[in-house]
Amino acid sequence: MKVSVIGSGYVGTVTAACFAELGHGVVCIDIDPEKVNMINRGEPPIYEDGLEDLLAKHAGKTLRATADYDDAVSNTDISFICVGTPSDDEGNIDLSIVKAASKSLGAALAKKNSYHVVVVKSTVVPQTTENVVVPIIEKASGQTAGVDFGAAMNPEFLREGKAVYDFMHPDKIVVGAIDQRSDDAVSALYAGLDCEITHADPSTAEMIKYVNNSFLATKISFSNEIGNICKKLGIDTYQVMDAVGKDFRISPNFLNSGAGFGGSCFPKDVKALIGKAKGQGYEPILLNSVVKVNEVQPLLMLDQLESRLGDLSGLTIAVLGLAFKNDTDDIRESRSIPVIRALQDKGAVVTAYDPMAADNMRLLFDSSSIRYCDSAAQALKSADGCLVMTEWDEFRSLCSEFATMKRPLVIDGRNVISCNEIEYVGLCW
Ligand code: NAD
Repeated sequence: MKVSVIGSGYVGTVTAACFAELGHGVVCIDIDPEKVNMINRGEPPIYEDGLEDLLAKHAGKTLRATADYDDAVSNTDISFICVGTPSDDEGNIDLSIVKAASKSLGAALAKKNSYHVVVVKSTVVPQTTENVVVPIIEKASGQTAGVDFGAAMNPEFLREGKAVYDFMHPDKIVVGAIDQRSDDAVSALYAGLDCEITHADPSTAEMIKYVNNSFLATKISFSNEIGNICKKLGIDTYQVMDAVGKDFRISPNFLNSGAGFGGSCFPKDVKALIGKAKGQGYEPILLNSVVKVNEVQPLLMLDQLESRLGDLSGLTIAVLGLAFKNDTDDIRESRSIPVIRALQDKGAVVTAYDPMAADNMRLLFDSSSIRYCDSAAQALKSADGCLVMTEWDEFRSLCSEFATMKRPLVIDGRNVISCNEIEYVGLCW
């Protein structure tokens, strides 16, 4: 099949490259000419393990990129909307990018005479595909859904850092279509993958994605709250959760307490579901608490620091890890962001190191406000304290590097440091 993928970010580029790997012809669409050029050169616009190899293999052959919707839509049978769905100022979903992409897609469909399927892969709150996307496309194209074009919602569950692997080895594929013809077209694209497809209506498919993320976020905030209680009691929460996770009804995953969850999905998706629930007149008590725990959690690291160092003003604090998790350059909603802000508010000098995410963080905190370093050792040199914010593998072997600090005080927010010669403080253990 011939597929166009709208938006060349984390989801769009991975989706495009993996569909090409599955044997489909793919055209990427992005409004950012730099991303279009990079993809056409076979260079991934974002870092994902395995993505570079796939683009090198398929770019210029079965995969290409353009900024021209007419070109992409007229040369493909099915289009995936993979643009961002950020939060607005109140935390509700901001659909402006999805609406703009839908309008451009509809305008391109107006010039096409054959049947086309429109698929929403962006994470959108229930009822968006049917009540927002489809009407915009109908208006812009002058065509009718279910007659001239098909529509479906196909949520994405990939983990950043493991996105290519997850796309090729999914544990679930959900297709929420407005009719059988649309469902058949989307399902056929995944025929090369060994995975059962869950068929649903679009709103159910949209809800599955939110419930998935909200449940995982709830598990993390629950583990963090338990970790905070364990810390007060001098109990190792990791030993507790290790045993608790052996219960098959619970599973051992997502029980690691620490500095909280970040990334482009969990924080905004939980907030968007809260906003949608409130819009229906329901106040979601548990989900509100999930967000609250996550906001407080990283700041507990500063409490630990201040209880040992006192006033942080003028002190140098090394922040190890800027990405929201390991193996990605993504800093969106990284827990290091509120921590750095709080350190700066308290007058501390921040040195920072991340193996991948420093360039992205520079867009938020420029080099005059943070001293970015090329190694953990450089960031630690002469520091008064250290905060470990990301579970990068290379941090696990740090030990002698701490000896160059003014005081080898390490507050570990990810349970990755195991060095006996330091003043070690686990956030929740
Ligand atoms: P992103 O911000 O990395 O990428 C979005 C891309 O869309 C950008 O390249 C941007 O230039 C492009 N774009 C913006 N407006 C456009 C337009 N009108 N036409 C064409 N392109 C346009 O976003 P992302 O992280 O890939 O997320 C995309 C969606 O997938 C979101 O809804 C997100 O919640 C969801 N999602 C993300 C992940 C993840 O791990 N990142 C996982 C699952 C689902």
